[in-house]
Amino acid sequence: MSLAETRSWAESLGLPGYRGQQVFEGLYAPGTNRFADISVLPRELAERLDAEHRLIPGEESRRQESADGTVKSLLRMHDGKLVECVSIPTEDRHTICVSSQVGCAVGCTFCASGLNGVERDLTAGEIVYQILFHHRRRPVTNVVFMGSGEPLFNYDNVVKAIRVLAEPRGLGMGKRRFTVSTSGVPKRIRQLGVDEPQVTLAFSLHAADDETRSRIVPINRRWPLAEVMDAMDEYSAAVNRRMTLEYVLLAESNMTDAHADSLAAVAQKYRAHVNLIPFNPVFETTHQRPETEAVNAFAARVAAQGVNITVRGQRGADIDAACGQLRRREMSQG
Ligand code: SAH
Ligand code: SF4
Repeated sequence: MSLAETRSWAESLGLPGYRGQQVFEGLYAPGTNRFADISVLPRELAERLDAEHRLIPGEESRRQESADGTVKSLLRMHDGKLVECVSIPTEDRHTICVSSQVGCAVGCTFCASGLNGVERDLTAGEIVYQILFHHRRRPVTNVVFMGSGEPLFNYDNVVKAIRVLAEPRGLGMGKRRFTVSTSGVPKRIRQLGVDEPQVTLAFSLHAADDETRSRIVPINRRWPLAEVMDAMDEYSAAVNRRMTLEYVLLAESNMTDAHADSLAAVAQKYRAHVNLIPFNPVFETTHQRPETEAVNAFAARVAAQGVNITVRGQRGADIDAACGQLRRREMSQG
């Protein structure tokens, strides 16, 4: 809930609005798990609220810590659904990779999240909780919607979560610190440019020709590149901000010179930053992780065309850090 909604919620319980504000502020303080942890609330009221309402929507069910500091947590929501989120600390940043849905309907051939389709959307509260969970260890600076799910298929809750996290009396995060990654939903790309122009858009391109892309990103058959790019044209005119293009490198699928050249052309058109992601092996797929030399050659060919490009450093290689992997392991073990 936003601060205004939390105030109205308190009023709907017959309490003064400022009690709602105390709950809102208390939730974002370290160590708050129950209403009783919010010390400004009278004890009796806190007990009544704890008996009747759930303050935190889930709990950690499993955790993996990588030697490089990456922490992947599997959160169990109140209905038993499992949601992955990853904390990625660097010297000056603490980035959280969050899920927007349980599973994913898109079903990209290289991704563990889409193997069983989508089970349900996450609520705005369940999205906020993933950030809050890790924020308690170290203040969160950046949020990327690159966990399970297609965020633009859960548009309202994703935008709401961003707005709640930006509330000055909550975490007060700047909107520019959020990146929404999408497989390409034209209508929602346009809408995001209007509703939240400060949020960064990352488009999971993975191939810049329809034939290759339709093979690995099935949503491309519904919205081919020309349609997504029409929406991106409108988006970039509206926001005047650089977008990111993500490109998973799949040996033998999307790494020829022609693939590199068509990627470079799209990147130039939008003056976009390209993020190459060497495929992180998922046991159920037939894709192969490319050799380092092939990755470097591909990157060099795109860079030579004047494109700003980085190869994503692999973090958490020892802990199932690719999206959907930990949840899958937990489910297969029952
Ligand atoms: N559904 C959205 C956001 C979540 S996926 C989207 O597709 O953009 C976030 C990123 O993780 C995508 O770019 C996706 O291609 C990448 N990804 C998924 N599985 C991967 C894997 N096994 N190895 C490397 N990158 C992967
Ligand atoms: Fe869904 Fe993104 Fe995974 Fe594709 S890569 S299946 S869109 S989560």
